[in-house]
Amino acid sequence: MPDDTCIFCRIARGEIPCAKIYEDDKVLAFLDMGPVRPGHALVIPKEHYANLPETPDELAPAIFKACKLVGKALMNTVGATGYNVMQNNFSSSGQMVFHVHWHIIPREEQDGIKHWDQGTYADMAAMQSLAGKISASVEH
Ligand code: AMP
Ligand code: ZN
Repeated sequence: MPDDTCIFCRIARGEIPCAKIYEDDKVLAFLDMGPVRPGHALVIPKEHYANLPETPDELAPAIFKACKLVGKALMNTVGATGYNVMQNNFSSSGQMVFHVHWHIIPREEQDGIKHWDQGTYADMAAMQSLAGKISASVEH
């Protein structure tokens, strides 16, 4: 459902300017105004969905295609030798704009961007036990 207060809906409707990179009938890609690195782009569906769980599966091919096209274009232009595709859901994850979007972040060796710290499980049994609980709660 379109939302008049949603900044990304307003960008998709052309009411607010953006630095556009790519669009098709379903998705739009533009530069993030607060880039992790220059070229940091966002891919959004033109229709409003708050987050990944609300986004219809049918949109996946268009999103997937746009992420790949933008990633390749970043590798052709801003000196990226790789890129991250990141997507936040709900405020606890760091989501600030509640119109689903995919961050495409250009990367190169030794660029100083740090990934999150990783932990460990006590042992394989603990890992298997947790996987079992999560697996049992997957809604097919
Ligand atoms: P997230 O934390 O995943 O919700 O990220 C939202 C992103 O949207 C941030 O990286 C912001 O810099 C970016 N952003 C917010 N408003 C705009 C805008 N008007 N144009 C471009 N990027 C924006
Ligand atoms: Zn929206």
